[in-house]
Amino acid sequence: MKKGFKKFTLMIIIIICGFYSMVKDTVPNLVSLSVIGSEFSLDDEKDKSLKVNSDNIKPDKLLVNKNNGLSSDYIPKNLSIPNIPFSDSSDHEEKHVAGIIVNPLENLVNAAKKEGIILFGNSGYRSYDSQKNVYNNRVRSQGKALADAYVAKPGFSEHQTGLCIDITNKDKYFVEGTKEAEWLGQNCYKFGFIIRYPKQKKNITNIEYEPWHIRYVGKEAAKYIYNNKITLEEYLGK
Ligand SMILES: [Zn+2]
Repeated sequence: MKKGFKKFTLMIIIIICGFYSMVKDTVPNLVSLSVIGSEFSLDDEKDKSLKVNSDNIKPDKLLVNKNNGLSSDYIPKNLSIPNIPFSDSSDHEEKHVAGIIVNPLENLVNAAKKEGIILFGNSGYRSYDSQKNVYNNRVRSQGKALADAYVAKPGFSEHQTGLCIDITNKDKYFVEGTKEAEWLGQNCYKFGFIIRYPKQKKNITNIEYEPWHIRYVGKEAAKYIYNNKITLEEYLGK
């Protein structure tokens, strides 16, 4: 009887271990070093069906910069083309954005239009493979040193998140002082976006001022970042 019970207990342990290693192996490693904090609660951890992917990362927690990259298989959820005008130089892939920002982006562009400001989408999502092509072409044409100075290494462009988009105007001259750039800088937070690379923050972002590059973080975070004149890095305590 006792022996039988020991065998039974051993079998149960083996089954549990086997199940655990099976489940562990099915969780894809979609996100690499880039998730700051985690929104998983203990309850979520118990849910074995919950996978780590772009679905369960809050948009203000995903940080991609020189030190935080995305894995090659990171693809934003529900990539779609928003109903906004695009620059004629945008290719098919870069017209896409993550599903979560489609409505906020359309609302932003429509609100601008009501005030006589015509904004165009220029470049949204860039896949890992596109980044790799751009980087490799640059290395081939100019050498590795110059490529590293001007092009993000594959996986290190925020455009892979699908949460950001470069905006332009009809003249494709979207610089400080144009009415479109001024409007975007003053109003994008109302729709959940931030100017991701603000002026005089290169020491933190590693990127020069880009008035055209907006990043979705959600309304609450965007308002906080706008009011406090900080960067996403500072907001996340990085
Ligand atoms: Zn950009």
